[in-house]
Amino acid sequence: MFIPLIQVAGEESIDNSQVLESLGVLKFLVVGIANAGFELTPIVILTFLFVIFLLKGLIKYFEGYYKVIIQMYFVKKIRYQMVDSLGNMNFKDFLKLDAGRIQNTLSGEIYKIVSAYVAYFNTLQSVVLLLVYLVLALMANFQFAILVSLGGYLTNLIYKIIYRHTETASINNSKLSHIYQSLLIQSVQYFKYLKATNYFEKYKLKLRSYVDKIEDEQKKIGIFNAILQASREPLVIGVVILVIIVQINVLEGNIATIFLSLLFFYRALNYIMVVQTSWQSFTSNLGGLHVGLELLEDFRNGEEKSSGTIAVERIHNIDLKDVSFCYNPDNFVLKNIDINIERKLTYALVGRSGSGKTTLTNLLAGLIDPSSGQFFINGVPREQVKMSSFRNRIGYITQEPVIFNDTVFNNITFWSEFTPENILRFKNAIKLANLEELVNSFPDGENTVLGDNGILISGGQKQRISIARELFKDVDVLIFDEATSALDSETEKSIQQNIESLKGSCNIILIAHRLSTVKNADEILVMKDGFIEARGSFSELMVSNRSFKNMVELQEF
Ligand code: ADP
Repeated sequence: MFIPLIQVAGEESIDNSQVLESLGVLKFLVVGIANAGFELTPIVILTFLFVIFLLKGLIKYFEGYYKVIIQMYFVKKIRYQMVDSLGNMNFKDFLKLDAGRIQNTLSGEIYKIVSAYVAYFNTLQSVVLLLVYLVLALMANFQFAILVSLGGYLTNLIYKIIYRHTETASINNSKLSHIYQSLLIQSVQYFKYLKATNYFEKYKLKLRSYVDKIEDEQKKIGIFNAILQASREPLVIGVVILVIIVQINVLEGNIATIFLSLLFFYRALNYIMVVQTSWQSFTSNLGGLHVGLELLEDFRNGEEKSSGTIAVERIHNIDLKDVSFCYNPDNFVLKNIDINIERKLTYALVGRSGSGKTTLTNLLAGLIDPSSGQFFINGVPREQVKMSSFRNRIGYITQEPVIFNDTVFNNITFWSEFTPENILRFKNAIKLANLEELVNSFPDGENTVLGDNGILISGGQKQRISIARELFKDVDVLIFDEATSALDSETEKSIQQNIESLKGSCNIILIAHRLSTVKNADEILVMKDGFIEARGSFSELMVSNRSFKNMVELQEF
């Protein structure tokens, strides 16, 4: 644009200037400057050009700024949506999901989703710029616009094949990464076993085979990208040369128009290439988007349907009437259960493995819905109860205690603020859980980091930390999945004392594995094949139920 514009500035009059014609339809710019009352001197033209580029710079700045804002908004939205949807899932459908898939999608794949969005935005932006240059080329010379479109269309035919293969490789890559993550999680979880048995060597080969498969797919994506990058320039130059030949030999156009049009043409072609590269980047990351949307769909399908609105301040009573439950309709895991959990009593569930104890506690905690029968909380049907308020009053001590990789204080208070009131509650909780001495012996006291990177604590100590967390929370119902092992007799005794001291302050529902805990329960429920076979106090059952008596004698629960 510079040359014809400066040439215009050198003319006597712009009205019949030959050079002005070389600008094609864009001559309105020069006419516009003249009509605005400016004299067409080189300085005015150059200043005009400078102002145009200054404006372009400003627009570019705002464009970049808003692009980041919009991108981050999307990233935030996806992340929020993923985390919220995970939290809203019902427990039964959650069990069907694979940990590797969730972990991989929420960590690694999320970046691919973001990159896919970024690439998509870049493509859209390049399409807009391409259209601008196409319109300019069209205004300068109609034939060029046609040639540009044709060039773009032809190159796109080649690239379409590459996009398709890239997309397939990207989806394969994401799915293989799920499996790899899943294997990795299990290798950490079962490290002790794998190491002790030397099975790790074999397991390692399995892990490696997935590393190789992922690399293969990644390599494919890399090769397709390389083909696209490498073919860009030769293609552009080839088309440009073709256009010059057509211009000079066939169309015999004005040389200035040829240059101007060529410039737009070259720019437009460049943007076609940018569009193609951005689209390629989009397809390379499409796997992430694909698996991300798939997981969101599963989250949504497994969403907990809780329309209940009646909030529970305190749980006084949980009543199950003729409740049955099944994971699959042809196999009922709980059958015709009747229980009335009354406030502050201690219940022990005993029975052989697979008899339904865990499923029953899941039901009582509101994690799963009965398949049939009635479920009342404080006399209100479960469906009408706001389940989040119910769960606020539930404590759960799992068999494998939950210890977060954080300080003792944060583990017990669940990241509550360091206020005088919370510190007091924390101190009470550690006292009740028999943890005072242990915490004081830590190098940084309550600020000592536990968990993966923290100090090592025993199974029994972990359980006490879990108990302290529930005590800090202040719950009405404490579900206690007693550890079958990991407790030395000293710790077992102190845990037993803790359970005893909790008695009367809240409901305790124990999955019991110890004679001592069973002995002191207010009511023992003997489970067999999903039924409650017998119930009563320890002394009653020892007399009335033969299989219970056998279990006690053999310690088989
Ligand atoms: P317990 O705690 O007494 O050992 P569970 O409540 O864990 O027994 O299991 C009771 C029955 O439910 C078992 O037969 C078990 O196979 C079945 N079960 C448990 N979880 C699932 C599940 N997620 N899907 C299908 N069946 C399950």
